[in-house]
Amino acid sequence: LSTNYKAEIISIGTELLRGEVLDTNANYLATELPLTGMQLHSVTMAGDNFEQLCELLKQALERSRIVITTGGLGPTEDDLTRECIAAVLDETVSVDAGLEQQLRDIFKQFGREMSPHNIKQAWLIPSAEALPNPRGTAPGWWVTNNDKIIVAMPGPPREMTLMWRNEVKPRILSKLSGNIILSRTIKLYGLPEAEVAERAESFFSTDNPDLGIYARTDGIHLRLIAHGENSESLLRQAEEKIYDIFGPNIWGKDDDTLIGMIGNWLAENGKTLAIMEDSTSGLLANIISGIPGNSGFFNGSLIAPSDEIKIAMGVPKELIDTHGAVSPEVAEAMAVAARVNLSADIGLSTSGILTEHVSERRRPGLTYIGIADSDGQASWSQNYARFRDELGQREATGAFFRLRERLIKFHNAGLRPKG
Ligand code: ATP
Ligand code: MG
Repeated sequence: LSTNYKAEIISIGTELLRGEVLDTNANYLATELPLTGMQLHSVTMAGDNFEQLCELLKQALERSRIVITTGGLGPTEDDLTRECIAAVLDETVSVDAGLEQQLRDIFKQFGREMSPHNIKQAWLIPSAEALPNPRGTAPGWWVTNNDKIIVAMPGPPREMTLMWRNEVKPRILSKLSGNIILSRTIKLYGLPEAEVAERAESFFSTDNPDLGIYARTDGIHLRLIAHGENSESLLRQAEEKIYDIFGPNIWGKDDDTLIGMIGNWLAENGKTLAIMEDSTSGLLANIISGIPGNSGFFNGSLIAPSDEIKIAMGVPKELIDTHGAVSPEVAEAMAVAARVNLSADIGLSTSGILTEHVSERRRPGLTYIGIADSDGQASWSQNYARFRDELGQREATGAFFRLRERLIKFHNAGLRPKG
């Protein structure tokens, strides 16, 4: 590991140490740093404690080229990041007139009185450059000390991620790594991770492009990172190789989401979707609600946890009596009922039980997905015999994959990643 590219992260906040807040910032930055050519070698957590934080910063500066902190830029006394950076570099803080004006403007804009505590959010030290924070009051700091860099960003993830994208990442790319870095994520389904690894790794023995294999709830993601002057052609060749090896199993790339691609296709083709959910209890609707423009294709979801509700929403009682609520017949009838009641082109359903409560009539882990459209109905079972994590997510992904297959088969949907 060349010291030139060594990076480390310090997540600051007593609430993180106590486990009250999950440190998603470090996780996000850990996935982003390789895309800048920097190599992350450690992540540490510090409480809101002056001595501890100073000590940690000092050590970090000795061993890393770039030290990235998040948190502790708030206005209160326990927000100490600026104080520690100044102390470690033996510099004096002063209020920057331009930053103070911006801060006062923000408070005026929201019709709020600015507390005297907030003034420290307008501080700078001689070696710090302020990084704008369009989503909050605390600017970040880009601090240059000889050939070392300290970057201080705010704790709130939505502020931090935007500052990272707009300010920090571009600076690292241009000032530190001097590298042309390109990356591509290719998303597969229907293959076990071990098989993907085996088939892919024989082709990717180099570290440029570097290949990462990640198992996610929506399948296996392959992430390629290429660097150097030829990064574009290296990446393109590697991508072609992956398409050769895994072609039919590729469903998306980069920021593609399954339901995002499905939703786009539905909207473009003037088709609508309606859902009835038992096992997923509204999760499908919740996921779809995060897709921009979903009202253009999504007619809604009916949550049907009991036989009575299913019957009230149009599932024939005889079917439930004859086959049981967790059955292919009822899953299909639920999809039909959703389609009819919510006047949609396509009905989708999930039924069964994903929790560990055992009841006489329902076997935990056995679920059915149903689909209904103008061509008829179909259903599939998914059996989660051993309980695993994120079952709802897995079930939702399963439902969206079935829907995707149906659209490709019966509706001629392309649904392939572009490029
Ligand atoms: P603020 O001006 O909001 O006080 P700050 O820079 O001082 O910003 P903190 O006070 O440390 O940041 O954190 C503010 C909030 O941001 C926390 O309550 C927490 O919800 C969230 N947060 C902080 N650090 C992290 C982290 N590492 N991962 C995820 N969330 C975090
Ligand atoms: Mg704070």
